[in-house]
Amino acid sequence: MSTYVVTCSFCGTANRVQADKEGKSGRCGNCHKNLPLMYYRPQQLTERTFDSFINAYNGPVLAEFWAPWCPHCRAFDPAVRKAAEMLAGKAAVIQVNTQENPVLAGRFGVSSIPVLFLLKHGKIIDRLSGAQSSEAIVAWVRRHL
Ligand SMILES: [Zn+2]
Repeated sequence: MSTYVVTCSFCGTANRVQADKEGKSGRCGNCHKNLPLMYYRPQQLTERTFDSFINAYNGPVLAEFWAPWCPHCRAFDPAVRKAAEMLAGKAAVIQVNTQENPVLAGRFGVSSIPVLFLLKHGKIIDRLSGAQSSEAIVAWVRRHL
């Protein structure tokens, strides 16, 4: 099974977290305090689940807004999935279907898709429009970590 490295925010120890612990709270092997939540797949959020997810996750959140009718979004999806895996334990990647969640898309002022927002504590830090490579996404996120 795949493991992902999650750094303890209290003592800085790098902990290996198994894929099946995605989204579950674990404890640091060194200081036994709670580790930040780990996600390695894009989480599909809705108007109902968005705010509670953002409030529960302490690290940076990468939010992609997309729609099923958008061919660029479908072509972009594998890069978003790969970026989620590369950022596991450091940032959470989430996806919002704008067709099903128009109020949320309106709140973020989404006028073209696909578009990525980098959020910290629910605030927009930066945005990146259009399809990108997974490497470009990760480099963009790392500039803000
Ligand atoms: Zn620790």
